[in-house]
Amino acid sequence: MGRDDKEPASMSMAWPDVQRSLGQLAADAASHPAVQQLGAAGLQLGAPAAAYNLTLAVGHVAAGVLRLHCATPLLGPLWGLGTVAAASAAAGHVSRSSLAAMQAAAADVAARRRRGDGGGSVLGGALAALPGRLAAGWNGFEAAEDAVLGVVLFRVVFRHDFRRLLPSHLAKPGAFGRLHIPTGTTEYSTPSEKAQLSVIFGRDGCHHCGTRRNGVIGDHMPPYKVVKDTLAAREVATGMEKFLTQAAAFLRLPDTAVQQVYYAQCKGCSGRQAQLMRNGTRTTLAPGLWPPELVLAAPARLLGRSPLPGVLVAARHVVVAAVGAGGAGGGGRDGGGGAAAQWGGGGGAGEGGKGGRGKEKDKGRDRSRCSRPDDVFAATRRLEGVGAELQAALALAVPVPVPLPAGAARGQQPAAQPQRPGSRAGAAAGEAAGEAPQVPPWGPEGKVMLCFAV
Ligand SMILES: [Zn+2]
Repeated sequence: MGRDDKEPASMSMAWPDVQRSLGQLAADAASHPAVQQLGAAGLQLGAPAAAYNLTLAVGHVAAGVLRLHCATPLLGPLWGLGTVAAASAAAGHVSRSSLAAMQAAAADVAARRRRGDGGGSVLGGALAALPGRLAAGWNGFEAAEDAVLGVVLFRVVFRHDFRRLLPSHLAKPGAFGRLHIPTGTTEYSTPSEKAQLSVIFGRDGCHHCGTRRNGVIGDHMPPYKVVKDTLAAREVATGMEKFLTQAAAFLRLPDTAVQQVYYAQCKGCSGRQAQLMRNGTRTTLAPGLWPPELVLAAPARLLGRSPLPGVLVAARHVVVAAVGAGGAGGGGRDGGGGAAAQWGGGGGAGEGGKGGRGKEKDKGRDRSRCSRPDDVFAATRRLEGVGAELQAALALAVPVPVPLPAGAARGQQPAAQPQRPGSRAGAAAGEAAGEAPQVPPWGPEGKVMLCFAV
């Protein structure tokens, strides 16, 4: 009994320690550079993707409110084009804003670290600064470029159809209807037709709402009522209309107005369609605002569209920022660009040949142990300079603070660079440190450079 009494007590004492350890573990994991970089990548590409899909969804609902649907001639595709342009501009704006927020947060954290005031999370600071950047950072020219790029990617590269972004009309083939099969002589679909429709349903979903749930039904398109009404109208037609109908029948032209095919449809849309055909209208969630003959896409299909065009539009700004960081390296001495300038300076000193060597001799540098010829030495330095410039061009200038290694004080860069005394690389590094100090892998002042291979 005594043992049983002790065990809960020891557990209750240990639990706060476990909680503290778990909290510390989570804090350590969150401050790890890899986690910070993943978070930064998620913010810089995930947020524009979300903005892109959200704008497409808003455009979808707005089209329905305006009585536009996927079968509306001319205005339907035009509305889809405008929606893609707006979504691409939104994705680009969010991308630029998140980049600016990340850079501002990184600078803020670096300044706090210099003051010895802790530091904090770059990602957290960026998330806090993002709303302000979103409100203040609108650039019309960049937005127009994003819109054009997004439309070209959507239509030309990914071959998407603008009109499929709009809601579906229950009496017409829907926005998700890509495949159909011919109807037989029976009123309902046969087992073999049902099997084919199931395959189409599993691939594309219901042709009206896009859902892949709720069972598949063979939907006659155009609906029986539409066919009946069309035939009745032809019976009473006179003049030119009657002549054209008879001429088409004589020439055996395909009559798509009455020739039915099967589309895969869900039971929900089948019920809505039956209600509309029977009553001429149907109940909707927003009477007066939402037209009864249209159906919204299922939420999963509405928000789950491919965000690739938006992501590529956003990636444009990431690339521009990375190239800008590399270009700034030509004159700057801070951050990734500074690294390129320092490496480039080192290469230039190597190219100096005898003059450069004489200068180094004046400074008391002993290169007698280096047995390489000068031209090989200079070529190696040039290659090192090109490699560093390439690295800087691909590096996004968003520094993420990481803990300095043990023994390395803030601002003391060369002490953190591992060198092998006596080796050729060690001697070369020593010279580079004399002429142009090397930047350790974690960058000056304990930074790592955030790199994206785009
Ligand atoms: Zn449906």
